[in-house]
Amino acid sequence: MKIKLHWQVAIAMLIGIIVGLVFQNIYSGKPEGAVYSLIVSLGTIFIRLLRMVIVPLIFTSIVSGVASIGDSKSVGRLGLKTFVFYFFTSLFAILIGLTVTNILEPGIGAKIPFNDNFDPNAINTTSSPFEILIRMIPLNPFNAAATGDMLGIIFFSIFLGVSITKVKQESRVFLQKIFNSLFDAMMKITEFIIKLVPIGVFGLIVKTVSVAGFAMFKTVGLYMLTVTIGVAIHFFIILPSIYFIFTRINPLIHFKAMASALITAFSTSSSNATLPLTIRSVEKNAGVSNKISSFVLPLGATVNMDGTALYECAGVIFISQVMGLELTLAQQFVVVLTALLASIGTAAIPSAGLVTIFIVTQAIGFKDADVAVIIGTMLAVDRPLDMFRTMTNVWSDSIGTVIIAKSEGETNLYPENKIEN
Ligand code: ASP
Repeated sequence: MKIKLHWQVAIAMLIGIIVGLVFQNIYSGKPEGAVYSLIVSLGTIFIRLLRMVIVPLIFTSIVSGVASIGDSKSVGRLGLKTFVFYFFTSLFAILIGLTVTNILEPGIGAKIPFNDNFDPNAINTTSSPFEILIRMIPLNPFNAAATGDMLGIIFFSIFLGVSITKVKQESRVFLQKIFNSLFDAMMKITEFIIKLVPIGVFGLIVKTVSVAGFAMFKTVGLYMLTVTIGVAIHFFIILPSIYFIFTRINPLIHFKAMASALITAFSTSSSNATLPLTIRSVEKNAGVSNKISSFVLPLGATVNMDGTALYECAGVIFISQVMGLELTLAQQFVVVLTALLASIGTAAIPSAGLVTIFIVTQAIGFKDADVAVIIGTMLAVDRPLDMFRTMTNVWSDSIGTVIIAKSEGETNLYPENKIEN
């Protein structure tokens, strides 16, 4: 009997938690030994394989997708729809973060322990969020590819895809063929890596659980609960409702289609590393064309981060509560706005959201040195929260892709499932 991939992954995760707890207990949070190293290497190998395929996959996928859209007017229309979806879902997420943190007030009375290991200067706060727009244009596309500069790669690929539609027919057909074939080959590599998801997830979960500092979780338990509740509301209620309103399809069908990608997002804490799986699930399981998915997903993984946006907002309100400050309405507005920009500028890698939170704290006038200890404490318990917000980031991208595909008249959605209309 063949067990479905998402069940394999779920079982791997469960075993990973148990094994991780065993290591945690034996070595009191500082695990070592040959067996442990071997298990951890499984996770590392998995992530390296995913990262290996990302740049060529994104490049070929976007070029072949955009070149098949046909004209630049359609690219513009897709771009507008994508932007509207990203903007409003992230805004919703932030408002949820704002509301739950104001209601539960996790920062009031929280005794944040002093964390003298934390060096605020070591944190790269990135430049102004507006610079992201300028930085999108790579000085050298090869360098962008070599350094994994996602926005640069996306920008150049879209440009190249549109230009291919404008060259003379003979060259156009030739180039489309090349890029379609290269993309097919990259997807084959991805298919292979996907078979390894259960093993990779096992290694990653064992590592996370075995080094978790559970004592710290108690001190900031309410804060963690607040963020988790906020993310859960967005994940389980808001996004599925938006999905249903626009597609009239049962969100559970989409959840099933995305299960492996979501668990991978959860265990890698990186939307970027999950991207090959997200693309594959959206195209194979949800039946969206490469034309749409290649446009919406890579961009979404890089700039559309609902979970992160929610977290940035909740985190800053938490910080001000710990410091005993009540933010004015105007300051809360600044938090909402900068949380949105900060989430756009967050790299799709583990814990990046906690780094860009400095953009928001600075915007409302907190000095880095004042908030560094609190953020250091948040960093100590960040992993589980990062897992949830990354999963939400990927969930939102995938939902946006199906909504946009439906609005563009695609009819072949969920080929293997019954769609309820
Ligand atoms: N880890 C998140 C992601 O890759 C970003 C974050 O830290 O919030 O989507």
